[in-house]
Amino acid sequence: MLALTVKPRTPDSLAVLEVPDPEPGPGELLVDGIALGVCGTDVEISLGDYGTAPEGRERLVLGHESFGRVRTAPEGSGFSVGDLVVGVVRRPDPEPCPACAQGEFDMCRNNRYTERGIEGRDGFGSQMWSIEADYAVALDPALEQVGVLMEPTTVVAKAWEQIELINARAWQHPERLLVTGAGPIGLLAALLGAARGLQVHVLDRATAGAKPRMVDALGGVYHSGEVGEVAAKVKPDIIIEATGSPEVAMSVVNAVTPAGIVCMTSVTPIGHDVELDAGTLNREMVLENRVVFGTVNANLRHYRAAATALAAADTGWLEHLITRRVPLAEAEKAFERGADDIKVVIEL
Ligand code: BGC
Repeated sequence: MLALTVKPRTPDSLAVLEVPDPEPGPGELLVDGIALGVCGTDVEISLGDYGTAPEGRERLVLGHESFGRVRTAPEGSGFSVGDLVVGVVRRPDPEPCPACAQGEFDMCRNNRYTERGIEGRDGFGSQMWSIEADYAVALDPALEQVGVLMEPTTVVAKAWEQIELINARAWQHPERLLVTGAGPIGLLAALLGAARGLQVHVLDRATAGAKPRMVDALGGVYHSGEVGEVAAKVKPDIIIEATGSPEVAMSVVNAVTPAGIVCMTSVTPIGHDVELDAGTLNREMVLENRVVFGTVNANLRHYRAAATALAAADTGWLEHLITRRVPLAEAEKAFERGADDIKVVIEL
């Protein structure tokens, strides 16, 4: 079968190659890959900045935004042939740390976890893949065209769970959400915010095209301008930062109302100095009881929440998030970002 492979830490090593078919072990499903989503992490891996091949191997099968259909399932696995599935990205560290031991591998404390398609395990960018049934999640059959959006939705489902846990620390009644960045994470965060009845505002550099239309369709308000000015106008109780820009990430820290919450989701590039008044930054956080927190990855609880959220969403809206589909043979085209691209997927 064909797989999208890369030599981690080696720029320009992306290649679609013939690899052996997967052989599912006991308790594992064999899945026909339908599509693979490409995100900033995949681009970083392709540039040689990130990622680790499985032990003893040079190449890694790339891809963690999975989507496929069950080809074979062991008896008693809870899956049937033909089910739509996605695979969980992370596996607990071998030790495991106390968080991993409870299934909260998304909160791993010693960073010895592995991740499919990223850290030490082959990913899902192949025509077939196998997966432990315990790390597979079934999707509603109605999501056939958009199930590839599941993994970024799990990241956002975790972000919302954490925001709600933090919110419960004191009296609160959040009304306004500001999302910075109208990429897939930002728009999916806005979708889940709208589903919670919040007034949704989204800020992005784009001034026209699909992004403003997507926000409009959610009943939200789209902004493009300077983040400080937009925040001063909107007065958000919650900010979800998803631009990937270190400058924007720093400038939203104190842009929420008193006792507000800022949720950081961008894996920003390293080596980016910004000038800021650390005294003011800290002082305002303290005097206004603000919480700024980071969130990454997702555990099985978040996968289930994401599957429910996607099943409840308008599939037409979700389809518009996918702005380009490229065949596996031309996979490298998915790594070039067009100005109006939101999510680009590779068809397997
Ligand atoms: C993935 C996460 C992963 C993170 C760090 C993100 O792109 O969505 O699942 O934990 O990269 O490797």
